[in-house]
Amino acid sequence: MSEKELTTRQNLRFDELWAYDPAPESPDYVKIEEQYNLFIDGKFQEPASGRYFETINPANEKLLSRVARADKSDLDKAVAAARKAYEGVWSKMPAKERGKYIYRIARLLQERAREFAILESMDTGKPIRESRDVDIPIVIAHFFYYAGWADKLKYAFPGVDPRPLGVAGQIIPWNFPLLMAAWKIAPALATGNTVVIKPASSTPLTLLRLGELIRDAGLPDGVVNIVTGPGEIGNAIANHPGIDKIAFTGSTEIGRTIQEASLRTGKKYTLELGGKAANIVFDDAPVEEAVEGIVNGIFFNQGHVCCAGSRLLVQEGVADELVHKLKMRMETLILGDPLDKNTDIGAINSKGQLDSILGYLTDGVESGLQIYQTKCQLPEKGFWCPPTLVENVSQAHRIVQEEVFGPVLTIQTFRTPEEAVSLANNTPYGLSGGIWTDKGSKIFKVGKGIRAGVIWANTFNKFDPTSPFGGYKESGMGREGGIHGLLPYLEISQ
Ligand code: NAP
Ligand code: MG
Repeated sequence: MSEKELTTRQNLRFDELWAYDPAPESPDYVKIEEQYNLFIDGKFQEPASGRYFETINPANEKLLSRVARADKSDLDKAVAAARKAYEGVWSKMPAKERGKYIYRIARLLQERAREFAILESMDTGKPIRESRDVDIPIVIAHFFYYAGWADKLKYAFPGVDPRPLGVAGQIIPWNFPLLMAAWKIAPALATGNTVVIKPASSTPLTLLRLGELIRDAGLPDGVVNIVTGPGEIGNAIANHPGIDKIAFTGSTEIGRTIQEASLRTGKKYTLELGGKAANIVFDDAPVEEAVEGIVNGIFFNQGHVCCAGSRLLVQEGVADELVHKLKMRMETLILGDPLDKNTDIGAINSKGQLDSILGYLTDGVESGLQIYQTKCQLPEKGFWCPPTLVENVSQAHRIVQEEVFGPVLTIQTFRTPEEAVSLANNTPYGLSGGIWTDKGSKIFKVGKGIRAGVIWANTFNKFDPTSPFGGYKESGMGREGGIHGLLPYLEISQ
């Protein structure tokens, strides 16, 4: 397509070229209570303060529910319940019995997958296609996978004596609420630990529903406890003397405070923090496939993905063609109602996050950066940001160095593999990366040069419970997933 044709096409909105009929999933399938309490010791209990906070649907700003605001005394109760369950039941139970409970959670989730997917899309703003086809299936896979390890820990770590730590404190973010809960709860239970977990304030609903499911699965009281509330409850978890281990997923800034608190109070800890991944396209890569991978890398979940391919590095010779095709593909992305099955780009999770993304873009405009946004129409209500490209950036720009956590892709060019590696490594982060090339040897050479926990070759954003995930540098420490994901929950002695 010529430049002129592309411009003509871009001036038309995609929905004028290809109109899809609406295909909405029904919110009526999910019953949302007006109010949710704390899940402590196997029961939903009112918070000591009697206070509740609101969680909304970011796609229409409507109230979904009111959720209990825990304070320190509620946390003390949750930790005491987790300790009692650990000492009295869970650590004493034969491992194969523990495994059966985790299998039961996985099977019940399978039965109720649709309900969880709808609720996740309503509370987060992510497209139903993603919660239905990615989040919830991987959640289920995690529970199945770790259920299998429960009675095989001695085979995972032969010749040593793996023992649980006690009570695990877990703090999770809003971008993959149920998935992050599964990443944390499943290995903790499989290794014989009990759990006190806090969801992010803007997305508590699927974890609370998992609490109901765990209760219905008949898990012993206190094995999993859910405390909802603001960041200060997370801080109290990190500092609580009755907690033996912290698993945190969230921003690097809060991660630092968690690390300090864990060291001060003698806890084991894992930190899964931010990222600024390079997605590197060589001139021998299949361009159309690379375009799909770039789109998936940055626009999946509106770019609210720690391992998002937020920096496109493209080899000079192919840059014009690739950017041209990328823009064409971006114009076909459908932004709108997260519950519509055709939607590609849902809502930004909160007003605060939208303001932060727009702040980066305003800053970019003021620094003379060229910003391209698709011509999709934004709904009137809710928080939205169209798919965005930022061109003519240099490595020093803030938007290249800092995590935007939105649908914003920067583009840089390079000439040699060495230059690509050096650009890829030149941020404070080291979580993930992508390489697009026809040459296997190039994948190994460049992949070895990038200091990141996960490197995808000719694909992006693929997750599997058997594969460890985690970062270097300011992206955190420790690994979740796979056999590696068991270790942070175990004490190992000869
Ligand atoms: P965040 O502000 O760090 O919040 C994460 C969690 O920590 C939330 O539950 C939050 O509660 C809680 N929290 C807030 N202040 C706290 C404090 N002082 N002490 C303890 N806990 C506190 O991060 P976010 O904005 O929700 O999430 C986005 C970040 O997570 C991004 O940087 C992203 O890269 C990272 N992330 C990393 C991974 C990974 O696997 N590496 C995966 C997903 C996301 P409230 O919601 O109540 O404030
Ligand atoms: Mg919400």
